[in-house]
Amino acid sequence: MRLLCLDCGGVAVNMEGLKCCPHCQSQAVPADLDDSVTIQITNHELRVLTMWASNWARRMSRPGSDLNKPISTILTRLGTQTSAALTLSQEIADIRQAMPDSEVKVYNDRGEVLDL
Ligand SMILES: [Zn+2]
Repeated sequence: MRLLCLDCGGVAVNMEGLKCCPHCQSQAVPADLDDSVTIQITNHELRVLTMWASNWARRMSRPGSDLNKPISTILTRLGTQTSAALTLSQEIADIRQAMPDSEVKVYNDRGEVLDL
């Protein structure tokens, strides 16, 4: 069994005496890397899911909360498997790079400009 830490992305292969992640000491429940699935999904569907997940985690995070860590780790792993922008900030960065002479602003639901 190989365990994947969702807080840091580290992998543990030796479980004997393991009480936390050997890389970051997280005690969060790890994922079993040998219990993986292969699914078919379009890049657009994946982007919808990952952007909602990352935005929701960012919105719900409170000081001292680690809600963003697992989402960030999962997005990093997914990002190695696709060239699609999986977060709104990456999407905006890609647009800015493609159109360097344009000004791209993103507003939240209160009309405030987001710092992306
Ligand atoms: Zn870890």
